[in-house]
Amino acid sequence: MITSVFGGLRRQPLTALCVGLLTSVAAQAASAADCPGHPDAIGTSRTIVVDPRAHPMIGTMQYAKTLPLADREVVLTFDDGPLPKYSNQILDILAAHCAKATFFLIGRQANGNPEGVRKVRDAGHTVATHSQNHPTGMDRLPLDRSKQEIEQGIASVTAALGDGTAPAPFLRIPGLRVNNGIEEFAASKGLQLWSADFPADDWRDVSANRVYELAMQRLEQKGKGILLLHDIQPRTVAALPRILRELKTRGYRIVHVVPATPDRPATPTEPQQWQLHPPSEMVAISRWPKVPKFASAGPAALPVPALSDLDWHTTDLGARTSRRGRGVPLPPVTLWPRQTTLAPAGTLVALPVPAASLFKLPESAQLTMLAPSARWSASAAQARATEVSSAKLASKSRRHGHAAAGQPPASAGQTAQAPQSAAGTVAKPAAQAKRNGRSVRVAGLKKR
Ligand SMILES: [Zn+2]
Repeated sequence: MITSVFGGLRRQPLTALCVGLLTSVAAQAASAADCPGHPDAIGTSRTIVVDPRAHPMIGTMQYAKTLPLADREVVLTFDDGPLPKYSNQILDILAAHCAKATFFLIGRQANGNPEGVRKVRDAGHTVATHSQNHPTGMDRLPLDRSKQEIEQGIASVTAALGDGTAPAPFLRIPGLRVNNGIEEFAASKGLQLWSADFPADDWRDVSANRVYELAMQRLEQKGKGILLLHDIQPRTVAALPRILRELKTRGYRIVHVVPATPDRPATPTEPQQWQLHPPSEMVAISRWPKVPKFASAGPAALPVPALSDLDWHTTDLGARTSRRGRGVPLPPVTLWPRQTTLAPAGTLVALPVPAASLFKLPESAQLTMLAPSARWSASAAQARATEVSSAKLASKSRRHGHAAAGQPPASAGQTAQAPQSAAGTVAKPAAQAKRNGRSVRVAGLKKR
């Protein structure tokens, strides 16, 4: 069933909120009724339709955005199948709980077990892809090889489906090892790159109990999100029933995700719903302007500046130097050889536009700017407190003539760290506080 997105309705009128509540409750009630013979099943509370082109990269393990989930909503994903021995058991467990998931299938596995691909589809799950051969370190492969892996994977799963339909345009890169080239290629093909919000480490040599614990602990930390599992692992088969039962006990709900098609429009959402924890609208925060997309902003080239636009070649260096009164005028012509040859005017008319990636902000910076966390404020407060105590100690030692006049109180460690440079002596208070808070606790102690 497809219901409206429940979260992020703060701005909408009360009537809309009520409708949303009723729809959500109805969806949950329906899910239990839809799972005959399994009264304790968690079911699937709703299905959301997403447009990959509108949101090409999701999952907070790597990206700023994730699926537009409400609190306590979970999306189940399974990688690396189909492997009949375990994948079939995973399908049975999901069927017994009426829980719908997304399967990221490997092309080579699909070639070997086309029946397994059709079972995933026929059970109503979303069929997605995970490369042809699951290369480790895809980010280090030549881009052409990566493209081939992605396209072959899709072709193999399409062939296994055997009904002329294609898998969902959802792609998960093996080991999440992406690079800019892979991301740009996926976006150009209309593929949505799925990272995850939390794994349960079920590919590692851990017990089924540990998989269960990690899944629940990490989910509790984030409150909602995309869970990354593998349907080829016996420990996952063993852990999954317990995970599903516990999800239901703790009030979590399963959400199924399908791609938008011409006759199935995307579920309407607000932009902030695509953040895992959107900042509260009650708190004023500063937002940096978005980096514009230079590549598509205009013509693909910029005009070359004309020689006449530059004024350096007309400057009389000799005259300027003698005006300064240094006594030795520079020769009117430079003595060092000038190797630069300028193209005759008119032959070169365009320069390449700088790539948009040059202006890309690092993920960590984006997250910090978008959602300043409570932890951040706490550490800033701690740093301030430490600064005050450092200042007290420093003023004590100043009485003994240790501190330079006019300088802010500085510890020995700091002085050694920032020698003499102008930037060092006028270091910003925040940066200084951070340094104090992290490494220099007491004036006179050495930096760790
Ligand atoms: Zn994998």
